[in-house]
Amino acid sequence: MLKALRTVFGFETFRPNQEDIVRNILNGRDVFAVMPTGGGKSLCYQIPAWMLDRTVVVISPLIALMKDQVDAARENGISALFINSSMTHKEISDACMSLRQSRTKLLYIAPERFAMPDFLQLLKGLTLSLFAIDEAHCISEWGHDFRPDYLGLSLIPKEFPDVPIAAFTATATEKVQEDIIAKLGLRSPFIVRASFNRSNLFYEVKPKTRVNPQILGFLQTRKAESGIVYRTTRDSVMETAEFLSSNGIKTLPYHAGLSADERNNNQEAFSRDEAQVIVATIAFGMGIDKSNVRFVIHADLPKNIENYYQETGRAGRDGEPAHCLLFFSRGDIPKIRYFIDKTPEDTERAIALEKLNKVVGYAEHSVCRRRRLLNFFGEDYPEDNCRTCDICTGVVEKTDITRDAQIIMSAISRTGQRFGAGHISDIVSGADTKKVRELKHNEIKTFGAGKDKNKQHWRFIVNELLAQEMLIQEGHPYPVLKLTQRGSDVLYGKSEATALSRQTKAITGYAADTLSLVHDEALFEKLRFLRKEIASAHRVPPYIIFSDKTLKEICRNLPETLQEMRRINGVGDQKLAEYGESFISAVRVYLKENPGARKAVNNTNDFSAQTRTKQSKGQ
Ligand code: ADP
Ligand code: ZN
Repeated sequence: MLKALRTVFGFETFRPNQEDIVRNILNGRDVFAVMPTGGGKSLCYQIPAWMLDRTVVVISPLIALMKDQVDAARENGISALFINSSMTHKEISDACMSLRQSRTKLLYIAPERFAMPDFLQLLKGLTLSLFAIDEAHCISEWGHDFRPDYLGLSLIPKEFPDVPIAAFTATATEKVQEDIIAKLGLRSPFIVRASFNRSNLFYEVKPKTRVNPQILGFLQTRKAESGIVYRTTRDSVMETAEFLSSNGIKTLPYHAGLSADERNNNQEAFSRDEAQVIVATIAFGMGIDKSNVRFVIHADLPKNIENYYQETGRAGRDGEPAHCLLFFSRGDIPKIRYFIDKTPEDTERAIALEKLNKVVGYAEHSVCRRRRLLNFFGEDYPEDNCRTCDICTGVVEKTDITRDAQIIMSAISRTGQRFGAGHISDIVSGADTKKVRELKHNEIKTFGAGKDKNKQHWRFIVNELLAQEMLIQEGHPYPVLKLTQRGSDVLYGKSEATALSRQTKAITGYAADTLSLVHDEALFEKLRFLRKEIASAHRVPPYIIFSDKTLKEICRNLPETLQEMRRINGVGDQKLAEYGESFISAVRVYLKENPGARKAVNNTNDFSAQTRTKQSKGQ
């Protein structure tokens, strides 16, 4: 397995879970794996494909991606084919012919093809080693992306009882997981639920003022890096795209109002690094395999955390640092509420509102952004400081809210921890309500202690204290507020409470970059250019030739021989043979023109070595 990883893919070590998954597949056991985007799912079936002298059938709904996936496998020297409805009759029969005649290691098909009787016959004539099912959540009605075609896959264990099945997805709650396993008929599968933590992503929220110039400001610190800007409406997509274009940024729009051709062309241009930025509605995303997306900006508030996580997840698939920036204004809330309020069904509306509250909480409260995202997906985040979000790195400005927190908590404590947020806010703001009078809460010491601020402010403080776990809510359907240990520490002056202030400092350096190893920018540019030329000649996207991570490693190690080049991550035997010479001669030319470069690199070597061990541990 390790040999395959090294010679075919040129990677040194497995990512978490890959090795276990491959081993189980090789042992003929069914697998069910939930791994985040960029977790390296494809390698899990490509390694068995390469090792076993049989065919792996990959079932994927993303027809648009099949060609790229096949190209990528071929670049690594794995024979691969795809068959889907975008092909002509002739192309399909040619593909079927070569399937019968020679041993193809990887066959990509869409789910509807599997159920076609002729095709099933063809498959039966082949020797298969595995069915790999991508986006497996599509088989579940409980998932967010149900596709009836997937139901046909329940035939697999009946028609091919001896072939193992490996199901992969990036999103599945426990309930969806059970459903997938049952529908596919997996036989006591080996189950993996990987962490959803994307440690190479930096999360940041900034107050939204004039968002177009704000985006431009961000881009000026990231020249030549590609990224996605999400906006909610078609009009705002066009407006932002035009603004950026007129300021010299190569930008293209993407939304459902454009023709299919235009959408494809724009996506293609982005994928091939011909456009630096794509401004898009949420229509853009499914089927984006580009690994070097370096930032994802949300210029408007997303509807819920699921969408936010999925959209930001498109950044940094290559494992290199990438930035996720949300421009937040409370002014965006009513726009989403407007649509929620129109939902006819009560529970559905309540769920949507709850989800909106969660995403607002994510933006507003001073809790590690990473912890908050992971908690949302039911995952604990054990570290105190993630070092890669604006809260943990302290790039946001905080205000001391100790006094306000004490006022709230004193009111809670003096009324016996038996009331909810609304009533407590009424007490501190000195509201003259019936309930206050009846319970004589206008007689307690904290009554009106905060009447200089409005009720909305006090609700904000309560929410902040809840987010920071200084308060908890208990009881149903009328939850009451109670103090936690952390809360009483603040109440009794043993510790302080802080919250985000509305105005944040300008950020100059990006902390995520400090995790990145130092590399030579000028050489990196030259290598990117070389990669682009090769990619155009081969008609594939540049990241299929080499990832950004590989290019950066070349810049740091300056390989001048094929042996040295082979040691670079992401350079397997086939790519070494094809592109090794071109890249080392680019390095040689560069070293000739910049004699000091080698020395500069060596001087940073100590640092590189340290960071590298740190990184590989973290991976
Ligand atoms: P997923 O399908 O889970 O979103 P991919 O299979 O597309 O992820 O892999 C994401 C990126 O990570 C790809 O560029 C891939 O080459 C790279 N990758 C996968 N496994 C490894 C590994 N063991 N070491 C280094 N890079 C890897
Ligand atoms: Zn953090």
